[in-house]
Amino acid sequence: MAAPSPRVPLAERVEELLAPGGPLPIVAAGAPVLRSGTERYEGQLDPALLARFVEALRVTMHAAPGVGLAAPQVGVELRIAVIEDPAPVPEEVRMARGRVPQPFRVLVNPSYEPVGSGRAAFFEGCLSVPGYQAVVARHAEVRLTGEDEHGRALDEVFAGWAARIVQHETDHLDGLLYLDRAELRSLTANQTALELWAHPTPEAAAEALGFELP
Ligand code: ZN
Repeated sequence: MAAPSPRVPLAERVEELLAPGGPLPIVAAGAPVLRSGTERYEGQLDPALLARFVEALRVTMHAAPGVGLAAPQVGVELRIAVIEDPAPVPEEVRMARGRVPQPFRVLVNPSYEPVGSGRAAFFEGCLSVPGYQAVVARHAEVRLTGEDEHGRALDEVFAGWAARIVQHETDHLDGLLYLDRAELRSLTANQTALELWAHPTPEAAAEALGFELP
């Protein structure tokens, strides 16, 4: 694949990206940066610039709004993502999806492995694939390892909706989009999802649209 040349150093590009201030533009599917995978963070941004970059990710995620955002989604090929879920959902949805509020956190160099063999399938969407949702069967529980933004080790088991979020964001860092793992027959426009498939679980959608659930 042709690389853009000449290659401007990463830190310089991030400085440029942050210069205007406010939410960053979100890169949409089709952009190579969403497919190329990322470099492990190993000090490419100095601590002050890393802090500014993480804050910009937070502001951008809130503005979207979204519950997670990975660096490639703002055009930066670093293994960094942020998550935060205020979980403003009805009680029956909270129960079915295990969606409980998650505080803001930064995932640096994260990777996950399944805990047990449980699978959970729900509609999800992505800020880089605007307008659509699809059902994705994911590990019900995962162990996430990596670091936080201060370099402290992270080793934690996530379940419920938070497990879905960390898998989705970590996948971005490996050049994967949720559509790569989705039941494509479940692909649904946001408006249609709102009108027909706001149920806590996707069983009725699976029956009507003809796709498999685990
Ligand atoms: Zn996404």
